[in-house]
Amino acid sequence: MVLLPFNSRYARLWIGMATGVLVALLMVGLWSQNYFVRTRLRMTNLYYVAQQASDNVVIVAIDDRSIREYGAYQDWSRERYAALLDQLSAGNARVAAFDLLFSEPRDGDAALAAAITDAEAAGTRVVLAAAGFERLDEADGALHFADDLRPLPMFAEPAFYTAFVNNIPDADGTVRRYTSQVSAAGDDYYSMALAAYFSYFNLSPTLAPQAVSVEENRLTLPATPPLTLTINERGLWMMNYFGDPSTRSGGTFQVYSIRDVIEGDYASAAFDGKIVLVGLMDAVGAVDQRITPVSLNGELMAGVEINANAVETMLSGVPLRPESRTSQALTIAVVAVALSLLLAQVRWQTMMILAAGAPFLWLVYASLTFSVRGVVLNLLYPLLTIVVCLVVSLGVRISLEIRQRKSTESMLKTLLQVSREQTEFDRLLTLISDDLRVITEGLEGSVWIPDSENEFVPVRTWGVNGEYPEVSRRAVDAVATQTEGRVLAVPVVWQREVRAVLTALLPPVRTGARERVEQFAAQLAVSLENARLFSETRSQNQVLQGILAESPAGIMVLDDAFNIQRYNERVAEWLEMQDRNFTGQPISAALEHSPMDRDTWKTLGTNLMKSEHFRQEIVVRKRTYQVDAAHIPLGGRWVLTLSNITDLAELSQLKTRMIRIASHDLKNPLGRILGYAELMQEMVDDEEDDLTQYNYYLSRMIHSGEDMNKIITEILDLEHLRSGNIEREPLDMINTIRDVLDRSRFDAEQKKQTLTEQLPEHLPEIMGDFTQLVQGLSNLVGNAIKYTPEGGQIDVRLYQHGDAIRFEVQDNGYGIPKEAQGRLFSEFYRVHTDNTRDIKGTGLGLSLVKAVIEAHEGRVWVDSEYNEGSTFFVELPLAPVEV
Ligand code: ADP
Repeated sequence: MVLLPFNSRYARLWIGMATGVLVALLMVGLWSQNYFVRTRLRMTNLYYVAQQASDNVVIVAIDDRSIREYGAYQDWSRERYAALLDQLSAGNARVAAFDLLFSEPRDGDAALAAAITDAEAAGTRVVLAAAGFERLDEADGALHFADDLRPLPMFAEPAFYTAFVNNIPDADGTVRRYTSQVSAAGDDYYSMALAAYFSYFNLSPTLAPQAVSVEENRLTLPATPPLTLTINERGLWMMNYFGDPSTRSGGTFQVYSIRDVIEGDYASAAFDGKIVLVGLMDAVGAVDQRITPVSLNGELMAGVEINANAVETMLSGVPLRPESRTSQALTIAVVAVALSLLLAQVRWQTMMILAAGAPFLWLVYASLTFSVRGVVLNLLYPLLTIVVCLVVSLGVRISLEIRQRKSTESMLKTLLQVSREQTEFDRLLTLISDDLRVITEGLEGSVWIPDSENEFVPVRTWGVNGEYPEVSRRAVDAVATQTEGRVLAVPVVWQREVRAVLTALLPPVRTGARERVEQFAAQLAVSLENARLFSETRSQNQVLQGILAESPAGIMVLDDAFNIQRYNERVAEWLEMQDRNFTGQPISAALEHSPMDRDTWKTLGTNLMKSEHFRQEIVVRKRTYQVDAAHIPLGGRWVLTLSNITDLAELSQLKTRMIRIASHDLKNPLGRILGYAELMQEMVDDEEDDLTQYNYYLSRMIHSGEDMNKIITEILDLEHLRSGNIEREPLDMINTIRDVLDRSRFDAEQKKQTLTEQLPEHLPEIMGDFTQLVQGLSNLVGNAIKYTPEGGQIDVRLYQHGDAIRFEVQDNGYGIPKEAQGRLFSEFYRVHTDNTRDIKGTGLGLSLVKAVIEAHEGRVWVDSEYNEGSTFFVELPLAPVEV
């Protein structure tokens, strides 16, 4: 997306105008202070191009050749000039102007004076040179000198004109202008070129002032049409240069060596009707030489040749005219404003083309003006203005572009972030408000969204009055942008419903901020909707996560390729997957890692491949889990739930065993009862009435019935305990143990055994179920009596051990072989040794003890040596101390 730096037309106009005025002020300021004067003058030299000169001006040079012939020219007798003048007069020259000072008396002065008089009489008008020195302040359109050197009166009197030859170079040392009128020692004179020009038209010094009109900056000379010289405050005017200095090949003017002329060595028509200028030229060491615009490579032009160019300028009617100051200032201002306005409208490419084209156009225009109207335009300042305009406009454009890029970038970043579904709604609001501030460069503004009752409320505000509730409400009602002064409210609309309102105070200058906010709002609608959906999904996901985490079942979700997508803590714990993260890994990796045996996980794998739903039991570290797997076609996923059914599995095993025991252990006494009952039946049938016999049978039957009853009672007790039915309360163990001992004392006496007790005076209480504990612990004392021969020793001890109460029953009976000790506490387990084989029992007593103790969070263990005796230990935790 390419954006113009400022989207609104007004903004562009405004910025263009501002830039233009700024640049114009700067440049006109610099120009009026006359900065870069040398550069400006040098650039003027571009205008001086060689042009055709008329053949009306001829130079007679005092050159090296004549000096070689006649010696140093300073020493020449004036007769030599007289001879020259005779030749010129004979050659019918119209004007003979000498750029030489005849101010000191010399040899042959009389001859020269006579020659001048003769020449004048023959129609050759003689112009002699004067030179002023000690220049004074200029005024009234003339140069003023305090002093001067003039031709001797004997020459000046017969001569047509005495004229000044001073040349005034510009600030850069280059002669571009020529003097018009000069005053010295109170007298006014024309310059050499003007005098020569007047002489050409036979305008004498007395007549000339009437023919010449002088205005403020104009000197109008007689000619058809009249020739106007634009002069500056010093009376200087701009002359043309017709070509390179004559020292170079070609040369603009016809030049004769003075020697050749004196010797008569020239073509007869050489001077006919022409202005002849006589002076030092092509002479080594000549003092009268100057830099001119056409000789900037360092070559100097002789004063006489400069005079020739000035005369030629007037004769050809091509004097130059400098641009007026008003025009210069206007040009600079117009270029600045126009170009800035133009640059503000165009694209980068066009800007670059203008950058190259504008200076070129200016140069073409200036040269055209010069060649058509002879006006010397100020090349430098407009050119500088163009460059400065370009630079400033570029700077402004770049800075605006950067600013907009920044705001666009952050805008895009916001949108991108949302589209990546990484942004919560809350975070998005912050991003939006940040962006809005950047776009509007705003100190004030706000973001509004509807609350749960669909009322719009400000959720982000910056600045003191940033909310603008009025305008914001209007934007909601109208579903369109609203403004009030500089306050802007833009609704964010999604499916014709306003989802948010952005308000802001716009900058005082229209820079397209409004358009950008609207553009932002339009793009934001989708993002806001996304963020809302995203937030919703997230919270749903959180619920799901919660369910997963809290579920008592293990849950694992697989994708269609059987990669684990997620699993909960329970699965990780049961399958021992905690040491690393299995998300994204194939389920086989997790199963292989788990402690379950290979066959189990292979069947699980096969089941997953084969069927859409299945149920399977797996055993991991002696715990049994039920796996329920279901394939959810929508979204292509598998959900596996694991339930810990270890207790259930154990119970079912117990039941199986109990049925087996019942069928075995209950069958014997039942068989006996039935046997005796049949015998009694036969006695009845035989009508026997032996009461002793009856009594015997009945007592056997009762005995067997009691056995059965015991088995059934113990099974029921165990069941009772297993189902967690105990009621614990603070309990004194000393009393409890006393009760246990009271129950057993009779049996011990029967077997003539010694039963000793070591009970403390006082013990902290435990939390316990009295009935259950008495029943359980009685089994331990009972076993000790049962599995100890007559006359044995049984010791019972009760004491505190750390945070627990310990109970010990020690006997010196048959003892238990080591290999049997491990299974001693399992249901129906009995140890069959030679000594104990005939002792009756169910094998449930110790399991009952274990169940009771474990229900009390205690533990039970045994220490026994076969044939030496056993000690059973019970440890029960103390009741927590109440604070
Ligand atoms: P029962 O006594 O009904 O057989 P128990 O669960 O109480 O069942 O005891 C299991 C087995 O442990 C007994 O069969 C017996 O062999 C052994 N046993 C229990 N207590 C002792 C003991 N104090 N000395 C020797 N053997 C014992």
